[in-house]
This record gives sequence, C-alpha cells and structure tokens, in this order.
Amino acid sequence: MRRFTVYDSRTREVRLFAPLHPPRVGMYVCGLTPYAAAHVGHARTFVFFDVVARALRRWGYRLFYVQNVTNLDDKLIARAAEEGTDPLALAERHFAEYRAAMEELGVTSVNYYPFATDYVPEIVAQVRVLVDRGFAYRAPDGSVYFSVAKFPKFGELSGQNVAALRPGARLELDADKRSPEDFVIWKAATPGEPAWESPWGPGRPGWHVEDTAITERLLGARYDLHGGGIDLIFPHHEAEIALSESATGEAPSVNYWMHGGALRLAGEKMSKSLGNVLPLSEALEAFGPGPVRLFLTNVQYRGPLEFDRERSLPEAREAYDRLRLPYDRFSALLAQAGAAGAGREPPEELAAQATSLVERLDTTLAADFDTRGAVALLFGWVRRLAEPGVELDGLSAPALELLRSPLDWAREVLGLFAEGGAASGSDEAPGIEVALAARARARGRGDFAEADRIRAELAHRGIEVEDRSDGPRWRRVPVG
Ligand SMILES: [Zn+2]
Repeated sequence: MRRFTVYDSRTREVRLFAPLHPPRVGMYVCGLTPYAAAHVGHARTFVFFDVVARALRRWGYRLFYVQNVTNLDDKLIARAAEEGTDPLALAERHFAEYRAAMEELGVTSVNYYPFATDYVPEIVAQVRVLVDRGFAYRAPDGSVYFSVAKFPKFGELSGQNVAALRPGARLELDADKRSPEDFVIWKAATPGEPAWESPWGPGRPGWHVEDTAITERLLGARYDLHGGGIDLIFPHHEAEIALSESATGEAPSVNYWMHGGALRLAGEKMSKSLGNVLPLSEALEAFGPGPVRLFLTNVQYRGPLEFDRERSLPEAREAYDRLRLPYDRFSALLAQAGAAGAGREPPEELAAQATSLVERLDTTLAADFDTRGAVALLFGWVRRLAEPGVELDGLSAPALELLRSPLDWAREVLGLFAEGGAASGSDEAPGIEVALAARARARGRGDFAEADRIRAELAHRGIEVEDRSDGPRWRRVPVG
C-alpha cells in the first residue's frame, strides 16, 4: 500500500494516512439531495472523490465507498408540492438522471448509494439512544432535538464556539427548542407528508442524523474518511460529529475529514438556491466527459474554482485534446503494431522517463491529492513526445505501451480518455478507435461511401457512432 498524506479539516493539518483496519478503508461522502437536476458544482465534488477512490484502489487499499442520497427533506417536499407529485418519486427520478450523468462522467467508484428513507429503523434506533442517554429531548410538538449544550466539543470542526452561534440562531423563532442552537433529528409529521411511526409519534428523519445512522450501520462507530463540499462543514458535519460520538461513545467517529472547494460563478458559489447553475447534462452534451473532468481536476481541490461560462469548458476542451490526441494515436499505433509483429525499441532515455514519470504521478497525487500537479506532469509528457527526434511510428507494441503508460495512469486515476462508456477499457477499444480514425480520414477526403461503410460495419458489431461537435463518440448497443 502506498503511503499518502491528506489535509484533515478537523485538525487543520496535513496528516499521513493510516487506516483503522488495513488494507480496508471506509469512505463516506455526502451525496445529493435530488430535488432538481445535478449541476457542474455537484460534479466538482463527486469527480474529486472519484479520483480519491480510484487512487486508493490503485495504491492497494480495499476501499468501501458509500455516498448517501437524501431522498426526503423540506426542499423535496416543497418542490414535489409545486409539481403535484410525490417527493420520494421526485427524488427517485432526479437520482436516476444523476446516476446516468455520473456514469457518463466516469464516476463509477461508489460501492453503494443508500437512500435515507431505507434507513428509518436505524435512524429511529439512533435517536432513541440519544434520547435515552440525555443528549436529545422530545419537544411538545412531537419533534426530537439534539441538545448542543450536552456536547462540549461542538464547534471544533468549524472553529466556531457555541456562544457565537447564538445571536444568529435566535432569529430562528422556534418555541419548541430548549436552546436556539439545538437542531432537529426527528421531525413531527405534517399532514400530507411521508411519515413513519416512532416512539415520539409519527414523523420523518432530520437531516444530519440520516448520515450518522447510515455510517454507524455500514462503516461502524469509527471509520477512516468522510468527504463533502466545504459548505457542509457547518452545521452539517459539526452536527454529524456530535450525533455519532454521543450515540456511540466513541471518538473520533471520523479519522480524516476532507472537504472540496466550491465551484464559483462570477464570484458566487454555484448553487440551485442562487439560481446560477449550469446543469451537468448540458455541459456533458456540449463538451463530453473528458473536458469536464479535466476542468474539474486541473485545480487544487480545496480552493475555489472559478467557472466562466464563455471560457472554462471551451478552454478545457482544447487542453483535453492536447492530451487525448496522443492517447488516441498510441491506441491506433498499437493496433497496427499488434498486426505487424516486431518493431523498434524506443530510445533508452525516453523509456526511462516514462517509467519514472508514472512513479512521479503517484507521488504527486499521494501528497494530499495534488491533481493539478499531476495534470501539469501529463502536459509535460505530451510536450516531450512532440519534441523533434521522437518518432513513434514503427515502435514495437511493448515500447508503445511503455510510452503511453503516463497517459494510462491519467485514464485509470483521473478518469480521462474514457469516452465510449461501458466498453471503455476493453480490449476492443483500440480497434474501434482505429476504425473511427479511418472513417474520419474517409470523410476528410470526401469519400462518404467509405465512411458510411465503416459506420455500418461498426453497427453490425453493436457499436453505435455518434458525431458530436468535438468528434465522434461510440457506445455499445444491443445488436438486432
Ligand atoms: Zn450529509
């Protein structure tokens, strides 16, 4: 297992990672509240933690990655009422769209997406423990609140103290709370909303407790990594610590807290409530997954990322093509070299550089997931390959594979060059790329009959080709 460091938001320092039960690692990332379509701001968080997951698996850790789905909350209930539909069905629909977009983006590392309402028995059990131990109380209206005063460490993660929170909290008029900073963990039922029976009367889970009930059930009282967007530190993650550690009596519940920076549009966080969002499906339709992933990973993950509607993705596409074209060229040359048999060996110096670069890519990422540093190394490699005197034609297949290995690293860890969906990474992908290159050349010289013949031949093999503004894409479809 490769050693790596991670910036822990709770201790505010870069720490060497040590799993609780090596080689196993439990990771939990706060997922979507699917009350509307996912936007590019969401993708920033989920692509980043996808890279973390890919890296951990590459480095020999046995990762179990859980991302919850908050499929019931006030926003879902309000939106469903506007649309005259059921909130759980609305969440289901948006989640299905989200999964499809994540699949297209290559975010395939999540092991399990638990839905909050599937964990109501665990939530009720945890609330009951908190009430029994005196950390929580039932208010006159039938809701249950966590008593923040009972958890002296509250505020440690965000660096706030409870007294400072009070003036703001007091604005929130709520006669049922004993203290203004207390937060709800079980909401008394309102007529017409989904509700479950509980010892405190019918109701539904509060927000923070769904995470802590799910993590206790799936990852245990203590686990390795918890991730999410930086805006979740307060109050959400602060509340999670208070609930978990009060319910189980074990601390710290989370060994490393990781928070990804926000995506900002004109200086403001991209968020549905601000109405300044670019839907993820639109970005994928216009630019494809590679440029979107490159844009989101070519940045220090903890800082803000400015999104410019006019420039960000077009520039990312240009940059992406500088990486993808050599990758595609290697694939095409490999297909030829496989057929031709023996070939030349590369210059020794170049071969050594490829080998050491893969190691440098790993060590760069192992320093608190420096994705931007890794991307810079990849561009350096592509420039090196384009230098005069580097001749790729005629190289043997093992030589081509060696020189391509830094780009293969980018595919495996950063998730680049995965266009082609489910079939990507299969042995037949290079063959398809060769056929597509031949088709592009035929179109280029105006031989549309030949281009159509190649397309029909691919269709016969169950490969559907779609021409997009940034080049052809292929995907596997049922033959029939
Ligand atoms: Zn959460």
